[in-house]
Amino acid sequence: MPYTPASPTQSQPPVRINLLSDTQTRPTPAMRAAIASAEVGDEQIGDDPSVNALCARVADLLGKEAAVFMPSGTMCNVAALLVHCRPGDEIIAHKTAHILSREGGTHAALGGFQITGLDGADGQFTPDALRAALHPHTRYEMPQTVVSVEQTANIGGGTIWTKQHLDEVADIAHARGMATHMDGARLLNACVATGISAQDMAAGWDSVWIDFTKGLGAPLGAALAGPRAFIDKVWHWKQRLGGAMRQAGMSAAGCLYSLDHHVDRLADDHAHARALASGLAQINGVVVQQPETNLVFFDPAGAGISGADMVKALRAKGVLLATMDGRIRACTHLDVTAEMIEQTLELIRDVVRRA
Ligand SMILES: *Cc1c(COP(=O)(O)O)cnc(C)c1O
Repeated sequence: MPYTPASPTQSQPPVRINLLSDTQTRPTPAMRAAIASAEVGDEQIGDDPSVNALCARVADLLGKEAAVFMPSGTMCNVAALLVHCRPGDEIIAHKTAHILSREGGTHAALGGFQITGLDGADGQFTPDALRAALHPHTRYEMPQTVVSVEQTANIGGGTIWTKQHLDEVADIAHARGMATHMDGARLLNACVATGISAQDMAAGWDSVWIDFTKGLGAPLGAALAGPRAFIDKVWHWKQRLGGAMRQAGMSAAGCLYSLDHHVDRLADDHAHARALASGLAQINGVVVQQPETNLVFFDPAGAGISGADMVKALRAKGVLLATMDGRIRACTHLDVTAEMIEQTLELIRDVVRRA
């Protein structure tokens, strides 16, 4: 079987409403202007002023000593875990975690470590589940080195780990001498939804990163933060992985712009997600998970149509949705308006009526 990119946009009518992912945003004219006028230098030797400004800003935002700019969130996870772990080590995460199911097996391929996926509702494991997964330090067992969480939990429904829950999990890990890693691809969604600062959310987490290409709407980039000595080691892996860049200030300028202009407005995405969910909940037979942020998971099977058929029917009408983990995922973002949500609901009601 060839490995094909999962492009649902080929040989189909044009997409009018794109709820596939919050990665689907196009840079706004104002963001493009910020990118066009970026001050740049050679990032690889520390000379790009826009990248340096972004790293200082992210370190401050996340309450850590230092940060490093990366081409992608995936590289943040990979490089961070390569620093935290040795071959043969065990990482504990939720079974739906991005590091386990969506990074092409990098952690095994490059790091030689193993990720144990814990069960738990809504993409989260409980402190008790973590305690139960910890084993004695013996010669028989692999060293358990890292506990990793996703804020928000993507496949869990964009759910928010409460601050109390995060602190408790981090305390358990640290008491065992383990490191804590937060995949913060949508951390700022959690912060806007709860009013808790990113610094407070990430307080118990040794390494944490944010993605600029999700709700923040930038075309490229993520930034990983942690203690200075840790970030120095991450830089080594960034270089090894080919992630050290040149005039990356072109990208960093878009990221800085997104921090200035696209954080507070995540609340709009959350409102749109709630509107979509409450409309869906009124359709007989549709089961919808109440959204906490910008992701809406639902299953129309009870209304007489499978998720896959529903996605196909909507695609033919120019509405793009994803099937994920046996359900449909609709994702609100910068390029989705309240009107588009209304139109989507109208089309879904229509598809259900015909089914
Ligand atoms: C998107 C995503 C990533 C990976 O980020 P990329 O920038 O796409 O590499 C990692 N974790 C979660 C939870 C994500 O949603």
